[in-house]
Amino acid sequence: MSLDPDDPTSFRAHAHAALDVMLDGIEQATAGPVWRPMPDRVRASFDAPLPLAGRPFDEVVADYAACVAPFTLGNRHPRFFGWVHGGGTAVGALAEMLAAGLDANLGGRDHAPVEIERQVVRWMRALFRFPDEASGIVVTGTSMANFMALLVAKTKHLGNGTRRVGIGQARLVGYTSAAAHNCVERAFELSGLGSNALRRIPTDAAHRLDRAALELAIANDREAGLTPFILIGTAGTVDVGAIDELDALADVAAREGLWFHVDGAFGALSVLSPEIAPRVRGIERADSIAFDFHKWMQVPYDAAFLLVRDGDAHRAAFASEAQYLTRATRGLAAGAPWFTDFGPELSRGFRALKVWFTIATFGIERLGEVVAETCRLATLLADRVRQEPSLELLCEPQLNIVCFRHREADSAELVIALQESGLVAPSSTRLGGAPAIRAAIVNHRTTQRDVDALVDAVLALAKP
Ligand SMILES: *Cc1c(COP(=O)(O)O)cnc(C)c1O
Repeated sequence: MSLDPDDPTSFRAHAHAALDVMLDGIEQATAGPVWRPMPDRVRASFDAPLPLAGRPFDEVVADYAACVAPFTLGNRHPRFFGWVHGGGTAVGALAEMLAAGLDANLGGRDHAPVEIERQVVRWMRALFRFPDEASGIVVTGTSMANFMALLVAKTKHLGNGTRRVGIGQARLVGYTSAAAHNCVERAFELSGLGSNALRRIPTDAAHRLDRAALELAIANDREAGLTPFILIGTAGTVDVGAIDELDALADVAAREGLWFHVDGAFGALSVLSPEIAPRVRGIERADSIAFDFHKWMQVPYDAAFLLVRDGDAHRAAFASEAQYLTRATRGLAAGAPWFTDFGPELSRGFRALKVWFTIATFGIERLGEVVAETCRLATLLADRVRQEPSLELLCEPQLNIVCFRHREADSAELVIALQESGLVAPSSTRLGGAPAIRAAIVNHRTTQRDVDALVDAVLALAKP
């Protein structure tokens, strides 16, 4: 009853053709519209009955090529500026394919794939200048990494017993900026602390957490008998790319005895570029850092990382024992600690391979150049916006995000029209209560011509 191909030779030919479909898509990422609406016929094709009998593999590949591949979000395209999305690479895609071929389970045990993830951990430790005792784990996204960091901080604060008895009467509170990503709030919800336990501190004129307001909130909470335990800074806010004063926040956390976590979804990887790295100074003092490989490092979705200074505290939050998971010193069940000891999952895919391939193939210097170039393009875009009388720059770019508005047209409507045009794809946000056009420059394929095309398209579509 094997599911392996009946005819390996013809399967191999179809497999190579499937690979060509993938590589064609990546090679042609620059051509065609950024996004195109999916025809009803295509959408309806996904509502097929459950197949009892299968079809030939090459037919399924043909369906994929016709109905799936052309109708993606467009984040591989250099004129995609929406949200914060990486552009992916052929190298990362091939690594993902190779990983699937191994069918490796990274929960633990003794095999080379686990050593690859450990290599990624050591590289991330070096990149952020964390000590040898620091631990790390590849996860799905920064939302997950933030959530796990919160659990580690909570367990560290309340002691290991909290894993059995819950939070009991503890009245823990945490702090982050009003501009923090909403997954921080969701982490509080999911952890059982409740989002009321998260204080969203107002921001200053540069969209950074206001330190005076933070210290006041901590003092008020202590006065009211609550227990402050975590401070979450942001390196690169999702709206405008603002960077909290991480060094100063580390001081506050040290003085107040708080766990200092940094949500650096994209901004943390400023450290890749010697030119941009000084902007996130202080990040190396964090107790934990969450960031995405699938944004600024261009690793295909999904891949992110949680780095924890105190590896023992990290493990204490998740490690547990079970008869069928007994560790050995020899044989397949050796190699403790296992990655399952550092997160909630047991079975885990080989996400680390595409990270390892990306870093090994391009090197840190080249990846850092992508970071620096996208920041340079953001500066050029801001300059161009300033020169156009009908446009207003809403915030000086601190990293790679530019927010502006059209003085006459409705910017939110304009963004939808731009997306539907297929020419460019920014997203929208609200700044100071008014709709804004938001351009995040993340993609390694984006050039100055693409940035100019964005402004040209805004001006053209805003004409009545
Ligand atoms: C994108 C982002 C997140 C969420 O990361 P995911 O990988 O989408 O889970 C969190 N914080 C910030 C600042 C982000 O930009």
